[in-house]
Amino acid sequence: MERDYYKILGVPKKASAAEIKKAYRKLARKYHPDVNPGNADAEKRFKEIQEAYSVLSDTEKRHQYDRFGFVEGDVDLGSHPFSRARGRGQWQEAGPFRVRVDGGGAEGFGVGGFEDLGDLFSQIFGGRREAAAAKRPRAGADHETSVEISFADAVRGTSVVLPVQRQVHCSTCGGSGSMQDRACPACHGAGVVISTERLRVKVPEGVRDGSKIRVAGKGTEGAAGARAGDLYVRVTVKPHSFFKRKNDDILTTVPVTFTEAYLGAKVEVGTIHGPVRATIPPRTQSGQTFRLRGKGVRNLKTRAYGDHLYTVEVVVPKVVSPVGEEVARRVSDLYTEEPRGKLPRSL
Ligand SMILES: [Zn+2]
Repeated sequence: MERDYYKILGVPKKASAAEIKKAYRKLARKYHPDVNPGNADAEKRFKEIQEAYSVLSDTEKRHQYDRFGFVEGDVDLGSHPFSRARGRGQWQEAGPFRVRVDGGGAEGFGVGGFEDLGDLFSQIFGGRREAAAAKRPRAGADHETSVEISFADAVRGTSVVLPVQRQVHCSTCGGSGSMQDRACPACHGAGVVISTERLRVKVPEGVRDGSKIRVAGKGTEGAAGARAGDLYVRVTVKPHSFFKRKNDDILTTVPVTFTEAYLGAKVEVGTIHGPVRATIPPRTQSGQTFRLRGKGVRNLKTRAYGDHLYTVEVVVPKVVSPVGEEVARRVSDLYTEEPRGKLPRSL
């Protein structure tokens, strides 16, 4: 199978190294499996692009290719800058916390123990490959995915199962791309395949909207000997119609009658931990806020619970009644201060 690497990258035969790199990065972004989940054509293009770049970015390989054309199996997928661009360092401080994948959470996934294979491979083939790897030991690229969870799951904690696509070393050929001097049938000589696995990720109690959970080692696998990249799961929390969250506190509104506000009362206040009998002190004003300690959300770092703040809203009866009107006029005599007396009258 003859392939025109220049055509694949869309560059002329005389393209400079910088032009090749630029073209590669542009295409790799476009066809990256993260951007095209489940798209087999994009996946194929991505592999071709990587393969083309691995040859054209290497002066010696490019020279050989220009002279002798495509050489099957002689592909080193480890050396593309896309990994570096999205690689280590960029996300180091992205997540407020670290989360490990549940034991045995990776289901239907066949490359467990690859690292052993990789080691074995470098021991057997040693030499050139090992030396190249030692010159630039490169970790795999980090990946990012996202998940939306309910407000209840966020405050209580949950676990989610995510379909994760990532590039892993081909287990059929051990990442070499060739078997008995022929292109490996599983990866077509690329040495890597796109694996889809269902990953169970623990979402800790109290997770905030926009948080990133780091799943170690679930990004692209590194070159022989190098560590794999990480997976970052961005969590979006759906808002709740009743419970609002501010930092670790929960805010709600509690409607009360005029009588309850004036005389004081015990009312039920719903919290994320269940209903609580709460006090409305005598002469409570509409808009006053009270605190239920420890009835908020657990802080991820301190493990302490925030508070529940309930704001009182005085509700006026809607029934038309002569008695009501008489009572209302009498109540009006109880206001010793003009209620709007302290408001500014203008800007
Ligand atoms: Zn293979």
